[in-house]
Amino acid sequence: MMQEWTTLDFDIKPTSTSRLGEVDFSNLIFGKVFSDHMFVMDFVDGEWQRGEISAFGPMTFSPAIMSLHYGQAIFEGMKAFRQPDGGVSLFRPGANIQRLNFSARRMSMPEVPEATFLQALMELMKLDSAWVPAIADSALYIRPFMFATESHVGVRPSLSYRFCIFTCPVAAYYTKPVRVKLELVYTRAAAGGTGAAKAAGNYAGSLYPTELAKAQGYDQLLWTDASTHTAVEECGTMNVAFVMDGVMVVPKTSETVLSGITRDSAIQLMEHHGVKVEQRRVTVEELQSAAQSGQLTEAFGLGTAATVSPICTLGLPSGDWDLPDLANWKIGPRVKSLLNDVRYGTGEDPLGWNIPV
Ligand SMILES: *Cc1c(COP(=O)(O)O)cnc(C)c1O
Repeated sequence: MMQEWTTLDFDIKPTSTSRLGEVDFSNLIFGKVFSDHMFVMDFVDGEWQRGEISAFGPMTFSPAIMSLHYGQAIFEGMKAFRQPDGGVSLFRPGANIQRLNFSARRMSMPEVPEATFLQALMELMKLDSAWVPAIADSALYIRPFMFATESHVGVRPSLSYRFCIFTCPVAAYYTKPVRVKLELVYTRAAAGGTGAAKAAGNYAGSLYPTELAKAQGYDQLLWTDASTHTAVEECGTMNVAFVMDGVMVVPKTSETVLSGITRDSAIQLMEHHGVKVEQRRVTVEELQSAAQSGQLTEAFGLGTAATVSPICTLGLPSGDWDLPDLANWKIGPRVKSLLNDVRYGTGEDPLGWNIPV
């Protein structure tokens, strides 16, 4: 069937009391400041109802909504960027829509129509464009999410859901190099599980082992595969990449390695610029011997919030291993600057990812 989105399939009710004047854009704390508006759309009786953009604010629910008890809750994270000409652009929004719907299928939740999602995103960006910071390295973080809203005690998929999008202006994510502990006991994801979905529960399960690592002086965990703990999968809530012998090596995506858009973009951009990238299984043993022989020169996390998050220390079974001084890194900083050139419109966009609002 042809898509018939000639008019909006949601209402727009702008607030008359903007909070913009109360915000100090030079002192933003990540995830604590919310823009004026949000999008809300409910799924009831087997279909999506007419959505609405209105003032960001509290919601009222029954204590029995199923997401609180049985965990049907998924989310996305993406960003909008101020462009040199004063406009606003989104980075690969289609990839986030598709991943949200992938997560929805895995969690037995309804898919959001792509056109509605995109339209809502665009109208929200237009309405709150003044909230997109114009300060270098800042951005508007966008949080689409969906959760079960049926009031019912008993395990089965909920019959109703709410899909929302709100946004937060965020400052440059300070990427202090992180100390990362290889996790050989706890797991983030197992084959057949939900690790490839951006499901809220995956995060809940990772908190306790991360707190244990923090008590030992680390910042994050380097997750290994659940069955053998011999292969490296992700770093905290980011994908991970290593540079060994001058080659960028990235664990393959799988049921247990979430398909990050930053990861995919980094790989495509580096390959576009002729840098060799390998996507494959990366073992703990390989990392240890590459560290000892001096071939492991860089290690970094990849994700929307921080873009590239350098790792300064790997807590390996053989002891802590310090990576070479960040000042000598070649690949990680290049990934970051090439990605930023696209997103902030300050350089070339060879793959057509920068979508103006
Ligand atoms: C969101 C997420 C990532 C990074 O995805 P991006 O699309 O690059 O932000 C990586 N791993 C996990 C577990 C995640 O939840």
